[in-house]
Amino acid sequence: MTSAPDLRELAGRTIDARTDPEQAAAASARFLAQAHLDERPEIEDVPDTSVQLHRGILRGGTWYRTAEVRELTGADEEALAAAGSSWPRILDTLLLRGVCAVGPEPVTRALADELILGDRDQLVLAVRRVSFGDAISYERVRCPHCDELSDVTVPLDEIPVVRLDDPDVEEFPVPLRHGRTAYLRLPNGADQRAVLALKDASTAAQNTLMIGRCLLRLEGPDGKMSGSAQLARDLPMADRHTIVAHLAQIQPGPRYLELTFTHEVCGGEVPLPIGIGDLFR
Ligand SMILES: [Zn+2]
Repeated sequence: MTSAPDLRELAGRTIDARTDPEQAAAASARFLAQAHLDERPEIEDVPDTSVQLHRGILRGGTWYRTAEVRELTGADEEALAAAGSSWPRILDTLLLRGVCAVGPEPVTRALADELILGDRDQLVLAVRRVSFGDAISYERVRCPHCDELSDVTVPLDEIPVVRLDDPDVEEFPVPLRHGRTAYLRLPNGADQRAVLALKDASTAAQNTLMIGRCLLRLEGPDGKMSGSAQLARDLPMADRHTIVAHLAQIQPGPRYLELTFTHEVCGGEVPLPIGIGDLFR
């Protein structure tokens, strides 16, 4: 039996943390305990505070894809501490406080909800970069090839980034069984919040909600269209798995879980998946 794709892939470690509360709490505690705000180098380049988004926002027929972020301060650190170990609140706090504007529009909760997950992840990465610099360090990483421990510093630029072929395209077709085609839209902040709000829900229930929100319509082999709220639950399991995998695959943005480094001693490629807790520790 193949295992169901799950929503962890959709939002990187953001949802992963939600499904593993213990790990989330630990990461959060680490993140709050280790304030690096006073460890900046004395001389530093003026960081670039503008960031290019993958999708952006559409206003009056124009796409705006440049956002402004700013360096986090002590006040932000306090706000993050107040968010406790709640992953959605930590994400919200980072976006609402660390992002100044998208295009001409100041950031608000509604705007953050409207942004696709890939843009949100890109913004969180930019806030991290402008606040703590362009590299991430780990101590005592075990190489799976030669079993040696080493301290590693990896530039954030090495996190693989997936880009949209055409940033204006809003519908993504995916072929299903029996000659049907699903048309999907990219999950956004509001979708993510809705899924995260399903406390103690099974992966299947999370998938039903996400599919229900992002499935625009189904096209039959005869070209006939259908679409209803019930559709997500009525779909064959195999089609649901195809759709969830596709939603994860088409989402642009940084692939935090796909970061690797080359171990100099043995030449092996070592996976170094990172979560939001790691970015802000
Ligand atoms: Zn090695």
